Amino acid sequence: MNEIEREERYGARNYAPLPVVLSHGKGVWVWDVDGTRYLDMMSAYSAVSHGHAHPRLVAALTAQAQRLAVVSRAFYSDRLGAFLERLCDLTTLGGALPMNTGAEAVETAIKAARRWGYSVKRIPAGRAEIIVAEGNFHGRTTTIVGFSSEPAYRADFGPFAPGFVRVPFGDIDAVRAAITPNTCAVLFETIQGEGGIIVPPGGFLRELRQLCTEQNVLLLLDEIQSGLGRTGKWFAYQHENIVPDGVMLGKALGGGLLPVSAFVARRDVIDLFEPGSHGSTFGGNALAAAVALEALDVMADEDLPGRSAEMGEYLLSRLHAIHSPVIREVRGRGLWAGIEIDPSFASAHELSLQLLRRHILAKETRTTVLRLAPPLVIGRSEIDLCIAALKAVLAEAEDRP
Ligand SMILES: *Cc1c(COP(=O)(O)O)cnc(C)c1O
Repeated sequence: MNEIEREERYGARNYAPLPVVLSHGKGVWVWDVDGTRYLDMMSAYSAVSHGHAHPRLVAALTAQAQRLAVVSRAFYSDRLGAFLERLCDLTTLGGALPMNTGAEAVETAIKAARRWGYSVKRIPAGRAEIIVAEGNFHGRTTTIVGFSSEPAYRADFGPFAPGFVRVPFGDIDAVRAAITPNTCAVLFETIQGEGGIIVPPGGFLRELRQLCTEQNVLLLLDEIQSGLGRTGKWFAYQHENIVPDGVMLGKALGGGLLPVSAFVARRDVIDLFEPGSHGSTFGGNALAAAVALEALDVMADEDLPGRSAEMGEYLLSRLHAIHSPVIREVRGRGLWAGIEIDPSFASAHELSLQLLRRHILAKETRTTVLRLAPPLVIGRSEIDLCIAALKAVLAEAEDRP
């Protein structure tokens, strides 16, 4: 039995991996079990923004693992405070609650929003509403998939939690119309990732910030995929110079080594959690805190957001310069591109299979969007390799009847 067969035989088949078995990685490169090298243009959905096996992060991980890893939040550790302080400094927000996976950070934001709604805004018990977007992706818990608009995420997993109202993404009038006296929060991705790299219209975030302030509604932004340099800024909301009331971080926060997430928010919102109200056995453990703090330090020292802005501009300009009938649209910001594929030529999945043959790792999101989101340490020559492979794959798709 080979590794693919073994996974299929003993694992749940909730993913459809591309047929390559990876065994090690370094920077933007990964190698399969036969020693073939691939360019990673996906970076584990942004979890590996620092690149694979970053020496400083591996050193922080191994040093901390030998000292102290998990003590639970029943005790203080000499690692957590500095990590939380850095999150507050970076966001200019007042407090942070550490969790592990992105979905847990979103669940934390939902709890905070509802608490704030009842205890501060005086919404009648059990009536709090949160406005979310069509095409959203916030994780896989039953509450979160309950307000997804994607049938594949929801099918047969109900009954779902009430209290969510969906509006089209990027439509300020729709948000305004959806706000009621029972609305406690708006919860959006700043740029939709799984939804297909959907950038809202310019000015939307500023208007949304103003609307939420006027209507006494919390603005909570999920930056789990868009944050930490991906779009060329530390946080995607900085493109419009706003500050949300709360932000969810994850993925790259763990430096590509561990699951680390956090909900960072205004101090008065974070203060709504009293002892016993929320928690996680592993959340904020010393190992996670040490690695995440180093991940933030590396991001600053190597100016990964600045690199993402510069290399992202290069990537997007190279993509825009491709003239192929197979491409309907190229969207993106920073090192984050969505290529909308005309399905009459090929599915995005077929293209990702063809790219794999040319040793480029990329994956579709939804059926028609090919996503490129390499580690932020990528350089021009590696982007050129990817573009050359993509052009060849597109030319083949064009020739197909
Ligand atoms: C990946 C993602 C999540 C969920 O993160 P997990 O670590 O998989 O639970 C939530 N929100 C956004 C925007 C994401 O991209």
